[in-house]
Amino acid sequence: MSKKPKTHEFQAETRQVLDIVVNSLYKDKEIFVRELISNASDALEKLRRLQLTEKEVFDDNLELEINVTTDDSANQLTIQDFGVGMTEDELVENLGTIAHSGSKEFMEALKSDGEKNEALIGKFGVGFYSVFMVAEKVQAYTRTWKNDGDGQCWESDGDGSYSIESSDGQRRGTKIVIKLKDDFAEFAKEDRMKEVIKKYSAFVQFPISVNGEKVNTVDAIWMRSKNEVTDEEYEEFYKFQANDYEAPLMRMHFSADAPLEINSLLFVPKRNMEKMGMFRNENKVALHCRKVLIDAEPKALFPEWLRFLKGVVDSSDLPLNVSRETMQDSELLRKLNQVLTKRFLRFLNEQAKKEEQNYLEFWNEFGTLIKEGAATDFTYREDLAKLLLFESTALDPGKLTGLDAYLDRMAKDQKEILFLFGKSRESIEAGPYLEAMHARGLEVLLLTEPVDEYVMQSINEYKEKKIVSADSDDFELEKLDQDEDADSLDEEKTKSLCEWLKDKLGDKVSGVETGERLIDSPVCIVGGDGPGGASARRMMKMMQGMGENMPAPEVKLQINPKHTIIRGLYEIRDTDEETASLVADQLLDNAMASANLLDDPREMIARSYKALEKLAPTAS
Ligand code: ADP
Ligand code: MG
Repeated sequence: MSKKPKTHEFQAETRQVLDIVVNSLYKDKEIFVRELISNASDALEKLRRLQLTEKEVFDDNLELEINVTTDDSANQLTIQDFGVGMTEDELVENLGTIAHSGSKEFMEALKSDGEKNEALIGKFGVGFYSVFMVAEKVQAYTRTWKNDGDGQCWESDGDGSYSIESSDGQRRGTKIVIKLKDDFAEFAKEDRMKEVIKKYSAFVQFPISVNGEKVNTVDAIWMRSKNEVTDEEYEEFYKFQANDYEAPLMRMHFSADAPLEINSLLFVPKRNMEKMGMFRNENKVALHCRKVLIDAEPKALFPEWLRFLKGVVDSSDLPLNVSRETMQDSELLRKLNQVLTKRFLRFLNEQAKKEEQNYLEFWNEFGTLIKEGAATDFTYREDLAKLLLFESTALDPGKLTGLDAYLDRMAKDQKEILFLFGKSRESIEAGPYLEAMHARGLEVLLLTEPVDEYVMQSINEYKEKKIVSADSDDFELEKLDQDEDADSLDEEKTKSLCEWLKDKLGDKVSGVETGERLIDSPVCIVGGDGPGGASARRMMKMMQGMGENMPAPEVKLQINPKHTIIRGLYEIRDTDEETASLVADQLLDNAMASANLLDDPREMIARSYKALEKLAPTAS
């Protein structure tokens, strides 16, 4: 066996991370302890699972524990675990590249948030490389669990390269030997180490000792009853489990005996990383069976739209020695998913009622995911619809209402739940549609996010009330009892103007009519719910960006025969054809713009200059 060390270069991205870590001024250097202990704990967890299925495990009788030793005089710290260890290839792959979650998330965050490197180290951990904040030299002695493997020693001082050399006589697992920089000699002191380990590792599921003395109590807090756990313990557990530096926004500690035996502790983080545009949330709810970890990130335990959840689910109904792959499509997992999802939705509904402020905070961060669920997951549609919040004409700007409260306020004979979509509350209010609703005392939900209309169309119905857009012609407005208006065009004139307009506007509209919607505005667009209708078109626009090549929408123009512009148009339509055409086209574009359907304003702008020319005195 050759004893000559082999030198390797770190992968380019790794060097970049190392460079930041080594030169960072990040003050909580001690987090490297959390990272190394968590790696040791992961390695032990993997071994515990292997022992269930593998007959031959090297050093099979070793205790599953973590031993830390400090050497004050040599300025040295050692962290040893009896976990799975690594082969030579695994060493290159695991400690030479950053293919791993901790440091990968760090890299991604770094790319999207270039400047605040220091703060990111604390948030994302950086994994193994964080040790180079305090180390002058690091050696990782390791021996794989496989019987036919051999011992290796990886060594680096954190600059461009590392070396690997074979090393005999090792026990199974990994021993990290850290030669500390002089400035960080504190970490070679026993008391300091005990303090740091207690802080970060209270929930590690394996015994940890410092210089032979045990420092943690192995404790599965999710198995305890609620009133035995303090808020601080919950918070610490969350921070440990979710690797978060902030306290969670919500927690649900839930146990059941039937239909399945479940002990679960679920958390909602304070922040939605997706919203910050960093990366997709990944469900980090670990699956345990009687405290033994089965899968740290099981894929099918929750529906997609709950991917922000963190925590633990423990069920004694789970078979211990089943592979992850068979687990993923097991009936049991589906059942767990069902029970937990229902329970969590109930919890959210309770929060919405009892902890309004907190729920609002939740809604601001994770509302988009609830909307995603409401639009895509038919199973929970009604429960999810119940959780949605909107602005409304019945409330002051900034205040939000849910559908249940809307139903409570609704008049007995109102058939539909009404909404309007627009870029902002102001733009909806300035449009032509609300006036008719106001006049009839109908409340309208004001939707301002591009996905909202799609969500509403997908839900379609809530508690037997249809949900419709107030500009849809599927929804009929009652006639108002108004005095006959002497100034209005009469029926015959109106009809003739409608025909003239349809003739002028041609294919741009599918019809021109008079209706019940207009009170103060001259015109508006009404569109069907069909595939070519107004709301379908807005959705297409949202999904494809600007739809340059979309066919013209099937929309109708409604006119207000009482409005001065309409009456004026009737008068000039035969006498001043040029102006009348200008007015007709401009009215249509204005109505389209109010319905968020005007794709390209250039033509309208050119036309409006023509109109202005007619108004302003011409220079000669
Ligand atoms: P992460 O833990 O997020 O995967 P790290 O940078 O902390 O990233 O570790 C990189 C990889 O190195 C781990 O995924 C693991 O495969 C390996 N590793 C680190 N420490 C140990 C250890 N004590 N025992 C076995 N493997 C380890
Ligand atoms: Mg790690």
